[in-house]
Amino acid sequence: MGYPVVEIYREKIKENAQNLVKECHLRGIEVAGVVKVFGGYKDVVEAYIDGGVDLIADSRIENLKGFNEFNVQKMLIRIPMKSQAEEVVKYSDVALVSEIDIVEELNKYAKKHGKIYDIILMIDVGDLREGIFFKNKNEIEEWVRKVDMFKYINLKGIGTNLNCYGGVIPSTENMNYLVEVKSMIEKLLDRKLDVISGGNSENIKLMRENGMPKEINQLRIGVGIALGIGLYDKPIEGQHTDTVKLIAEVVEVKEKPSAPIGELGIDAFGRKPTFIDKGIRRRAILGIGRQDVSPEHIVPIDNKIEIIGASSDHLIIDITESNNNYKCGDVVEFNLTYGGLLAAMTSKYVNKRIV
Ligand SMILES: *Cc1c(COP(=O)(O)O)cnc(C)c1O
Repeated sequence: MGYPVVEIYREKIKENAQNLVKECHLRGIEVAGVVKVFGGYKDVVEAYIDGGVDLIADSRIENLKGFNEFNVQKMLIRIPMKSQAEEVVKYSDVALVSEIDIVEELNKYAKKHGKIYDIILMIDVGDLREGIFFKNKNEIEEWVRKVDMFKYINLKGIGTNLNCYGGVIPSTENMNYLVEVKSMIEKLLDRKLDVISGGNSENIKLMRENGMPKEINQLRIGVGIALGIGLYDKPIEGQHTDTVKLIAEVVEVKEKPSAPIGELGIDAFGRKPTFIDKGIRRRAILGIGRQDVSPEHIVPIDNKIEIIGASSDHLIIDITESNNNYKCGDVVEFNLTYGGLLAAMTSKYVNKRIV
């Protein structure tokens, strides 16, 4: 298989899942393993399942459809589009939702396909992405009363998501808002709700500090398994962070000045480039570009390499200080940030290989 390629280490991903599943289960928390960063790549889903996750979660119904062969509960974590309601009912078991109109649509198709579809109502406790704002008690009440009328919908619980848009950090305080909303809904419906889905990988720190109320019984964990990172993108203790690697091929090695010669315009992306003149440098071009991944999202494993820049299809690196004598046809390896992994897994020009 050619380059560039994302190499994924199955055992490390599986162990990352195992570790967190074990830790969460000890506290009565089930784990929805979020695979959205892997662009629907099934071998990774298998690694998560082998690692013992209770559900598989993805933001795209297209990906969940592809996982149909796996005998595991499937959760859609991006609030559904009306235009996809039938697919959502067919290819997932539970969705995070916030709009009553969407639930009405889901109810319609659940009836058509003869199933009871589970939903989790999203409550916004301050991050200002999806969900009903937690202080709007009347809105919550009205919503719940309406949902209770839908015969093919089961309100399984409530959930929240933090640290995605507003950057708000999970705390005992905002988790307790959820517990309050849950009690309020339970009184209203005169029955218990099964689930409080308390958040994502960023909640792990709070969980370890015993800061999560015991009512929180589900987390949706993506990067904590995929890259072993959590709050502030810091490594989670005990997790593998070297789960993936990007490998690209050298297509040119030449000595050149470090500042361009001639009058400067703007680059292909509308920016006016600036240069530091370091004299003549040894540079390599790799066969990978912005169409595959942003240079800001990759980190050379050989730390003597410096990324100088990228165009759509070329990545330019300075190899003057490196101890390796890179030649054409050699490869250069990179670690990936979350954004880098997301982009590389999504680019059809980047090969994927699980080892
Ligand atoms: C992405 C996402 C997650 C997983 O987040 P991580 O930080 O990768 O653990 C959980 N829930 C929702 C709603 C998401 O969009």
